[in-house]
Amino acid sequence: EIYTADNSRYADAEALYQRCGRSGVMLPKVSLGFWHNFGGNDSYERSRAITHYAFDHGITHFDLANNYGPPYGSAEETMGRLMDDDFKRYRDELFISTKAGYDMWPGPYGEWGSRKYLMASIDQSLKRMHIDYVDLFYSHRFDPNTPIEETLQAMVDIVRQGKALYLGISRWPLDALKKAVDYLKAHDTPLLIFQDKLNMLDRTPQENGTLDYCAAEGIGFISFSPLAQGLLTDRYLNGVPADSRMAQERFLKHSVLTPELLAQLQQLNQEAADRGETLAEMALAWILQQHGVTSVLVGASSVKQLATNMKCVHAAG
Ligand code: NDP
Repeated sequence: EIYTADNSRYADAEALYQRCGRSGVMLPKVSLGFWHNFGGNDSYERSRAITHYAFDHGITHFDLANNYGPPYGSAEETMGRLMDDDFKRYRDELFISTKAGYDMWPGPYGEWGSRKYLMASIDQSLKRMHIDYVDLFYSHRFDPNTPIEETLQAMVDIVRQGKALYLGISRWPLDALKKAVDYLKAHDTPLLIFQDKLNMLDRTPQENGTLDYCAAEGIGFISFSPLAQGLLTDRYLNGVPADSRMAQERFLKHSVLTPELLAQLQQLNQEAADRGETLAEMALAWILQQHGVTSVLVGASSVKQLATNMKCVHAAG
């Protein structure tokens, strides 16, 4: 059937959007990530329902990477199918990002930060997603063996070629990030956003000065794995559900759930309950309260989870 977006999708705009650093871009405080639940092995209709719910509620930002799946590339193919089925006429209302940096195809040109890899990767991504340009293109990780200027100039050229509107950096160490910011500024393509892990269990960007640096430089910050892959929810408080990410034993292992962590999560869950919130909602609201944070980049395996997570926009703080 034909998808028509909800007419009231921007009714909550005042609460939902905030400016990404000192740029012209407004981003939703909750963005949707395609790392899990959007691959070729996942139910298309479920992925589709999650994106409909998201867009119907003002989540304009979808975050991808070349190798999201599994198999690699298939999350972008899902995005392409969604463009064909539902979103083509809403393209100008969407802010789509992708990344290159991790292993994507075999051989010496299929990962890291060479010009050779980045140029090929962005072309592949656009082809898979059935779009002419991405709104945001990221370096997905720092490459210690490629001159930083080679990686950054390739990114600048991707913008010049019209294949991306803005540039982002993810997971680079702070000293390299600072060099990138200077380089990109000098080449008239200022860094839009830095993407890194920040959540109640891992506060590194706050503790090492990254958040303050981004805020001072007018760079947005978007937090990945804001729920620590589901730990900061009620998912694992009473065992490991068979349909959970931890049960897959891929990126979230049983071994992280120590008795100490479980006790900490139980306590956080109680704190949230005392405030009349879910743990997920409290954990996301905590991130959004940190100085310099633009958006939390959540994952969701159901519409219900996403609906719960969106409540953080209105959490008391
Ligand atoms: P989260 O920390 O939000 O974890 C999402 C998972 O938590 C869901 O798949 C679900 O797991 C569970 N969950 C979410 N909401 C709820 C809820 N309300 N109640 C119960 N369980 C819930 O984020 P991700 O780790 O998925 O990362 C989000 C995005 O960040 C990615 O999609 C990607 O775009 C980006 N990212 C970027 C990285 C980078 O290198 N730049 C690295 C990692 C992520 P379940 O399947 O068990 O239901």
